[in-house]
Amino acid sequence: MLEKYIEKELISEQEIKAQVKKLANIITEEHKDHDNVLLVGVLTGAFIFTSDLMRELDIPCVVDFISASSYGSGTESSGNVVIAKDIKESVRGKHVIICEELIDTGNTLQALKRWFARQEAESVKICALLNKEERRQVDIHSDYPVIEIPNEFVVGYGLDYAGKFRNYKCVCVLKKEVYEK
Ligand code: 5GP
Ligand code: MG
Repeated sequence: MLEKYIEKELISEQEIKAQVKKLANIITEEHKDHDNVLLVGVLTGAFIFTSDLMRELDIPCVVDFISASSYGSGTESSGNVVIAKDIKESVRGKHVIICEELIDTGNTLQALKRWFARQEAESVKICALLNKEERRQVDIHSDYPVIEIPNEFVVGYGLDYAGKFRNYKCVCVLKKEVYEK
């Protein structure tokens, strides 16, 4: 049913699973002596990535979610990022890992990184699954390996179009007709 809207698959379910496992192994090794790791998923897109990553981690950790929105023209991200919903957990003294499914301009993560650094986190790292390098506007990068994708609008694995299509297990490009409706 849902498959009929897909123009092309960019990243398969298997590739995503392998990458999540790889990231989890690196983070587990890095934090094997820590019991104060806080995963912060960036809503809404990163809810699937954050939960899949957490289940592969072999260390005690806490999860929370934050929501940031940028005010700009339409769907384009702008530099004016505000925190729309903060986390409930205290950040002080924690090893914070911000989980983001895709870095585009980098504006959101730049604002979030500054937000957590101000709250005296022990460390603040960015863990992103996907990266659109050519779209970057600010000096922000994932602290772990990423899957590079071309400059195309993608959906799936948490990423939406008009709130839908987050439930694809792969990352894909939609058929043009979907946007013309
Ligand atoms: P940034 O602040 O890096 O420009 O924006 C990052 C967020 O915008 C991503 O984490 C994602 O939620 C959303 N975004 C950026 N590019 C795309 C895209 O191609 N498709 C979808 N569905 N969301 C995107
Ligand atoms: Mg996102």
